[in-house]
Amino acid sequence: MSILIVGSLAFDDIETPFGSSLNTLGGSSTYIALSSSYFTDKVQLVGVVGSDFEDKHFQLLHSRNIDTKGIKKVEDGKTFRWAGRYHYDMNTRDTLDTQLNVFADFDPHVPVQYRDAEFVCLGNIDPELQLKVLDQINKPKLVICDTMNFWIEGKPEELKKTLERVDIFIINDSEARILSGDPNLVKSARIIRNMGPKTLIIKKGEHGALLFTDNGIFAAPAFPLESIYDPTGAGDTFAGGFIGHLARCGSINDIEMRRAVLYGSAMASFCVEKFGTEKIAALDMLEIEDRFQSFRELSRIDE
Ligand code: AMP
Repeated sequence: MSILIVGSLAFDDIETPFGSSLNTLGGSSTYIALSSSYFTDKVQLVGVVGSDFEDKHFQLLHSRNIDTKGIKKVEDGKTFRWAGRYHYDMNTRDTLDTQLNVFADFDPHVPVQYRDAEFVCLGNIDPELQLKVLDQINKPKLVICDTMNFWIEGKPEELKKTLERVDIFIINDSEARILSGDPNLVKSARIIRNMGPKTLIIKKGEHGALLFTDNGIFAAPAFPLESIYDPTGAGDTFAGGFIGHLARCGSINDIEMRRAVLYGSAMASFCVEKFGTEKIAALDMLEIEDRFQSFRELSRIDE
């Protein structure tokens, strides 16, 4: 089944206690697309880039069979830029710089051939743009949405409008607390689910993720890794694996959503092992299935 993704395409400057990487390809939709491309060959991207987005960047996306016809290139503009610095525990980071550039006046246009997409992933981007994309899609089977503090604090009312039309919302723990106004995550989940999304996933970095549905709460660990180099994009990569699995199996029920959380976590665990998109651009399905199995083993008790 097809997945339509909208989100940022970016160049990032990343600093971690273990190194740094300048001008590296990133952006929410880049990570989501690369991650979901292992599960379906119908991944379609809608976004905008500037003249500094080179052929080699398009080629990387094409190498994973990602359809880029929905990416607009603005010749007299610059691609979105983000800079961040991670703290010693790698679980928290400071945003040093956000330059919207071509995103500032972006008016997304969904190509006609994308409008019947069954799965829609609204990656982290201005919530007004997320809504504009949604307005152009015919009858999606499932709408998943991600965001970050920049938009929760900057455009809360617009975000709430988007959330009314979202089925599954993915957010991290600190963002959930800000959006709900409550420090307790279980209460936050109830408050946020009342804003629209019936299903909520709260990501907790190296402590895993919580899935809240009508049927209860499912907790997944994060994979215990010895070397973590760069957590950038882990959340988006999680979303890509999550929606990728659902699109691959075609059914959306509690069991498959729980499996999808483990696939998302497996993909995120690969992402952090190298800087930027390096690792998730070069995986194969065998290692993904292998890590998925390792995840299941993590919390299994044999009687
Ligand atoms: P994550 O680590 O999952 O939060 O995603 C990091 C990616 O989000 C980076 O590659 C950034 O380019 C992108 N990003 C950061 N801030 C924003 C923003 N305000 N809007 C859209 N994308 C952003």
